[in-house]
Amino acid sequence: MKPRDRLRIAMQKSGRLTEPALDLLKRCGLTFRQSRDKLFCFGEGEPVDLLLVRDDDIPGLIAQGVCDVGIVGRNVLGEFQLTAGRDGEPLAELRPLGFGRCRLSIAVPQELDYASSGDLAGRRIATSYPGLLGEWLRARDIDAAVVTLAGSVEIAPKLGTADAICDLVQSGGTLVANQLRETEVLLESEAVLAGPTTLPADERGDMLELLLKRLDGVIQVRESRLLLLQTSRHSLEAVTRLLPGGPQPTLLAVAGQTDQLMLQALCAGEVSWRQLEEIKKAGAREMFVLPVEKMLA
Ligand code: ATP
Ligand code: MG
Repeated sequence: MKPRDRLRIAMQKSGRLTEPALDLLKRCGLTFRQSRDKLFCFGEGEPVDLLLVRDDDIPGLIAQGVCDVGIVGRNVLGEFQLTAGRDGEPLAELRPLGFGRCRLSIAVPQELDYASSGDLAGRRIATSYPGLLGEWLRARDIDAAVVTLAGSVEIAPKLGTADAICDLVQSGGTLVANQLRETEVLLESEAVLAGPTTLPADERGDMLELLLKRLDGVIQVRESRLLLLQTSRHSLEAVTRLLPGGPQPTLLAVAGQTDQLMLQALCAGEVSWRQLEEIKKAGAREMFVLPVEKMLA
């Protein structure tokens, strides 16, 4: 294979992860010129290109070195490690990305008597995740038959081809619509940045390191708020005690008012009206909660 000097990221061509992944990359300062067939997108400012593929193909493309990293569900990555990628170098989950959240669960027909996982013994479980399900069953010493289906797993019990299913669940709506109830969670999933355990020792590695730093910033600011307020020196301690978690606040003098201070605090999460009202009661005024646009530690 010809050596590459540009970082290549694999992501889902069309599906649940496509929009949020493109949005995340955009926030990291990466924009792409879309090629006509939309399989390959050339990166415009930074030496980073995109390969748009089916999500199931992403771990394999990284393992083969066709791509350097990929944005894929933890469920797909985990399944690959236990099946097709079993004998190769394991891939690493470089960063959890905070979108595409779902869980891989076992569900049984509403009417089935189910008290514990032991009740799955001797049953047939339909799934598109034979690797993850097989491992879960083995770890619990449950002897059940795994029926591998490519899709429409949720109708298998109705069709009589399985007694239970193991599938992705987000809201649970699909399960209810099919008279199924969730009984076990095998894996909590979300989109992750997957890649090799050791970064390439060339320009691509440098670019990847830069991308990881930007991702950390983007993920952190997504939840961060900057809180600005004024307080008297007298109330400072009481006000500070009520501030939501985060690094130490910064204090600034207010021109012409020696008793007054301006306080600036970075908060790790949302600041609620209730919290603001409490802080105000402790002596703060002129309060502002601002979203954070970019952050570079
Ligand atoms: P592709 O054509 O790329 O193979 P797909 O049909 O396998 O697409 P999607 O349904 O778009 O994939 O789901 C992609 C990923 O989104 C899943 O692997 C999972 O990580 C995540 N996801 C989040 N919520 C759900 C859900 N309710 N059902 C299925 N996947 C979900
Ligand atoms: Mg798929």
